[in-house]
Amino acid sequence: MLADHVPAWIALYDAADHRCLFANRGYAEAFQLTQDSIVGKHFSEVVGAEAYAQVRVYVDELVRSHKPVVYERELQRPGGTPVCLEIHLIPQFDDRGTLLGSWVLVYDITRHRVAERRLRESEARLDKFMQATVEGILFHRDGIMTDVNQPLCALTGWSAAELIGQHVLAYVADDELPKVREVMRSGQELRYETAIRHRDGSRVPVELIMRTMERDGEKLRMAVVRDIRDRLASEARIQHLAHHDGLTGLLNRGAFMERMGLMLRRAERSGEMLALLFIDLDNFKRVNDSLGHLEGDQVLTAVSERLVGALRAGDLVGRFGGDEFVVLLSELGSRDDIKVVLDALLSVVEVPVRADGRALSVTPSIGVAVYPDDGLQEDELIQHADTAMYRAKSRGRATYQFFEPALAETAYADLVLEAELAQGLTRNEFELFFQPQVDAATGRLSGAEALLRWRHPQRGLLSPDAFIFVAERHRLMLPLGEWVLREAAVTARRWREQQLTQGHGPMRIAVNLSRMQFNLDGFADTVMRLLQEAGAQGEWLELELTERLLIDDIEHAPATLSALRAQGLTVSVDDFGTGYTSLAHLTELPLDKLKIDQSFVGRLPDDAGAQAITRAIVQMAVGLGLTVTAEGVRTAAQWQLLAGWGCQQFQGELVGAPMPAAEFEAWVKAR
Ligand code: C2E
Ligand code: MG
Ligand code: MG
Repeated sequence: MLADHVPAWIALYDAADHRCLFANRGYAEAFQLTQDSIVGKHFSEVVGAEAYAQVRVYVDELVRSHKPVVYERELQRPGGTPVCLEIHLIPQFDDRGTLLGSWVLVYDITRHRVAERRLRESEARLDKFMQATVEGILFHRDGIMTDVNQPLCALTGWSAAELIGQHVLAYVADDELPKVREVMRSGQELRYETAIRHRDGSRVPVELIMRTMERDGEKLRMAVVRDIRDRLASEARIQHLAHHDGLTGLLNRGAFMERMGLMLRRAERSGEMLALLFIDLDNFKRVNDSLGHLEGDQVLTAVSERLVGALRAGDLVGRFGGDEFVVLLSELGSRDDIKVVLDALLSVVEVPVRADGRALSVTPSIGVAVYPDDGLQEDELIQHADTAMYRAKSRGRATYQFFEPALAETAYADLVLEAELAQGLTRNEFELFFQPQVDAATGRLSGAEALLRWRHPQRGLLSPDAFIFVAERHRLMLPLGEWVLREAAVTARRWREQQLTQGHGPMRIAVNLSRMQFNLDGFADTVMRLLQEAGAQGEWLELELTERLLIDDIEHAPATLSALRAQGLTVSVDDFGTGYTSLAHLTELPLDKLKIDQSFVGRLPDDAGAQAITRAIVQMAVGLGLTVTAEGVRTAAQWQLLAGWGCQQFQGELVGAPMPAAEFEAWVKAR
């Protein structure tokens, strides 16, 4: 019964004739026999000839050595899985030690073999994986490394031989030791970030994934060591990109507003004063348009570097796009402190640029809004600083303007005005006034300056000073300027048809041009087209350009001016003396006339300084072959003085104020 129930097949064979003496049930049935029928059968009969041939050696071995023999065999069950057997041959002796027979014990060890093979395979897989992965892997037992892979060696700078046998903590960055020690003590399976020390002493941030696993029957800790330098760097970069302007590295709008909000809340508690500077660059569009975006980008970078250089570390600097920069100043004692910074910025932020061989400078126009005086909220302060900046621009370049409540009203008024201007054009509310110009020597009428007026339906007659700056800002100046030119040309023709000019000088009509018109490509062609449409000739018109406009466009100006003069138009420099340009600069340009600004004329004859300057201008201009006109002449004393220096033409109240066309025509006839 015992033999039938042990989990083994048992049989006894005679040593002499190899016939079966006994078999338990399992053994007999394994060979499709019964316990009775198997007895007396030869070993080869039982297991089959083929198997017998294979195991003969073991049987012979037993017979020869009289010692137990163990071997394994794999049987292919028909249609089934292979069966793995472990077979023990155990010799049986009589009292004298003579070999009587051999016990055969057969164990089915298929299960063990499968498990073993699985383990071997998984070991091989792990090995392959350790070598193939780019991540460092190490195994340690109680901290002592037992295995490492190549990537870990690369990550640490040590070879596998140097690492194995060493304690892992020896390679952890000092400040990370407590954390790593704690994870090791807890034995948890987790993922965390820490840093290791490279052989060269550098610190390498890593992510560790800790697992506990059995290997070769031992409990080991496995660590996947992942280099996260790239990830940290790109995370930092993404962080930076999200908050900074890509070109200059300054804060972008979103980040600036956010930090500004924090600073405002802090100032609210501390009662501190802050100043928001809205900065727009003068001339920048010209740089971008004429030199291209690459050059433009360089200018923006230079400006941002200088801004940052001139400010304190605690000040916020941002770029809102284009050529708009914003600065938030803190730690201010008074408004005077702001002025110190503003003066510093104005002197430092000036980028000289060479455009087509001529020097141009990019300067800042700055609007300032003060917290808490000019606003408590971010939007309000920015809006007000922006308004102030526009005013600074309209006052001329490279200057600053503090916000004043009146500016806000002006800004609103400008908006209204802009809408009304567009309407005014379609409703024909504009009109030209004419102011006579006379020849000093003969007293003859030499021409008239066309001066724009707007018969505003509610506000009455408006002078250009009241609306031109708005028109220029919103490009309405282009259609408005064309209207003026057309109207002047039509008037010039009418005067000839009416023979108004007879007995008088050339009677040219002088038309003022704005920068926007003159800068336009093909301006000379536009003028020619307008003249043609009006049936007028170039000789009947004169164009007035301000000194500043000419200097700013000195690379294109000569060609445009030459084209215009070739058609008979004369060109004069208006408001001369206010632009601080040297006369020598203007000699490069094809010009006919120079108009001395009324601010100089107005100070004559008493002001010695004005006298000296005016005389010098007149004499130099005459020397250069230019006709000199004095504008704003109001007294005979002024006339005499100017005429004495060589001034050839006069315009001003002394001769006649600007008049509507009909009135002017009557005035001429009466003369
Ligand atoms: P501007 O070209 O220097 O014109 C001369 C200005 O001086 C005119 O002012 C004229 O009325 C004024 N004026 C002339 N004689 C006297 C005088 O004896 N005393 C005083 N106090 N003023 C005198 P207005 O008409 O207000 O024009 C101002 C400026 O507006 C002009 O200065 C010109 O730059 C601009 N402007 C006028 N019409 C046009 C135009 O059609 N297009 C453009 N773009 N600008 C224009
Ligand atoms: Mg003028
Ligand atoms: Mg003038």
